[in-house]
Amino acid sequence: MPFSRSVPPKKKTTTLVIFGSVLALLVVLAVVGIVGRQLQPAVRDINFTQLRDLAATGAARSVNVSGEVVTVTGTDGTLVRSVVTNAVAQHEVVAAFEKGHVPVEYETLQPGLLVTVLNYLLPAAALLIFALIGWRVYASMGGQNEPVASEANPAQTVTFADVAGVDEARSELSETIEFLRDPEKFGRLGGRSPRGILLSGPPGTGKTLLARAAACEAGVPFLSVSGSSFQEKFAGLGAARVRRLFARARKLAPCVIFIDEIDALGRKRGRGGDSASADQDQTLNQLLVEMDGFEQLSGVVVVASTNRPDILDSALTRPGRFDREITVNLADMRGREQILRVHARKLKLEDGLDLGWIARGTPGFSGADLANLLNEAAIVATRDGSEAVGRPHVEYARDKILMGVERHGFMMDEDERYATAVHEAGHVAVGLAVKHGDPIHKVSILPRGRALGVTQALPERDRLMRTREYLEDQIAMLLGGRAAEVLLLDTMTAGASNDIERAVEIARRMVAEFGMSPLGPIHLGKPEDPHSQTLLDRIEHATSDIINVQMKRACEVVDSRRAEIAHLVAGLMERDTLDADEIRESFGIASEPVAA
Ligand code: ADP
Ligand code: ZN
Repeated sequence: MPFSRSVPPKKKTTTLVIFGSVLALLVVLAVVGIVGRQLQPAVRDINFTQLRDLAATGAARSVNVSGEVVTVTGTDGTLVRSVVTNAVAQHEVVAAFEKGHVPVEYETLQPGLLVTVLNYLLPAAALLIFALIGWRVYASMGGQNEPVASEANPAQTVTFADVAGVDEARSELSETIEFLRDPEKFGRLGGRSPRGILLSGPPGTGKTLLARAAACEAGVPFLSVSGSSFQEKFAGLGAARVRRLFARARKLAPCVIFIDEIDALGRKRGRGGDSASADQDQTLNQLLVEMDGFEQLSGVVVVASTNRPDILDSALTRPGRFDREITVNLADMRGREQILRVHARKLKLEDGLDLGWIARGTPGFSGADLANLLNEAAIVATRDGSEAVGRPHVEYARDKILMGVERHGFMMDEDERYATAVHEAGHVAVGLAVKHGDPIHKVSILPRGRALGVTQALPERDRLMRTREYLEDQIAMLLGGRAAEVLLLDTMTAGASNDIERAVEIARRMVAEFGMSPLGPIHLGKPEDPHSQTLLDRIEHATSDIINVQMKRACEVVDSRRAEIAHLVAGLMERDTLDADEIRESFGIASEPVAA
């Protein structure tokens, strides 16, 4: 997410300090050990035979026995030492010395101070190091060291002026802001403190932006986490993360916790017996516990976003939890224009470039798509060396977003270009013939993305209701490419596979969801529910009936428009891409104002 900055994790520094101190201590001990040894008088080691000979001569001042070590001080003061492991042998040698009247001194087996310290410290240090390493490995796997949440950078504030086209959601959040500004005053006035707000809607519609703006407007910290970050490799860690998140929030209160994609952790519980879903259940339970544990007026508001409110556990939406749902929809044309205005503030636009024109030509675009569109357009304008962003740049950016990038340098041979042109012309012919479809905006045989050619139909307005006729026309148009291949090329290409897939998908939904078939209004329910095979068979039948009828219709259109199609194909072979006016000209249709 933009505007986010990781807070330096405190835990890491503590670990480093401990680690460093232990290391320093070990170095000091080693140095002391070495120096200590150097300070001792030089001792020469001798073997047992030499020791025995020495004992026999009796030429020594004194003998010191310390465990297995026999140290002899010679008459000249030099020291020799021998290790005698065999007790009997040692006894013999010592007896020999005693016979020669050399004083023998037995040392109690008490280690020196240094040895004592090392004896105790070394294992302790080793244990500590192992424990530290183990903990770090565990932590790195379990994300213990990661920040619980990223906090908004106060330098980059977002206000409601940056969020456009979502006025309803904005006004619904105003009470929350009021609460965050002064939780106590809010309580005195008898308001029920908001705890959880669920923002639902398609991706890129500005849900994160709204939550962030609410926190900024209230002037409180914004803690943001992603629901999927609670999915941990180890059981129980997700729940622990939830606990830490809320502990931190309580310290920062008043503040906003934002949980992006809450569906990742808030799915209905008790689905499967596997351990992953059991762990998810545990994480979700912890979240519920934390939310119930808020004292009234604790000043923490949890905002969660999802594009699948239907799969959330119902416990999440009970009173006292996420009991307020705000739907954030795709913006309509006016909303899109406002969003474009927000993002165009940073850009230099050509005088002739009307944001309303862009808004009209971008139905179904989310706020994120629109931001992306302007960004792409600005990039192209810069690459062109233009002073400002103009219409062609926007057109190019929109084509890129809708159809993928042109693959320059990817050469089709003439036969392939011709086949592609015929296929696309089939789409165009059917698209122009049907009454309820979206107007054809552009056709091109420049390869883009995975497609060899593209026919672009854009709705002239935001379509809220899709009728049976509209859906049938869409299917016919999708099948127009294949119809042209069969009738005009006498072959079939694999390039139609995506068209067919989309057509069948629409037809199946018409049957199984919209009740638009002879089977009547049927509903299949959730995919995981058991379905009767007979019903599934009947749905497949009704689906292919729809497909076959529309395929026949597409073929009829293509058959009746052979001349126009040939004209269009010639134009495509010559110019690669034709716009709405050129298409109409090929088909002998008078030019009329087109939407975009
Ligand atoms: P969501 O959380 O709904 O998936 P985001 O809030 O993350 O969407 O939006 C992503 C980006 O798209 C934003 O940073 C912003 O640039 C742009 N955007 C989305 N919706 C809007 C809007 N309503 N107004 C202005 N910009 C928007
Ligand atoms: Zn096609």
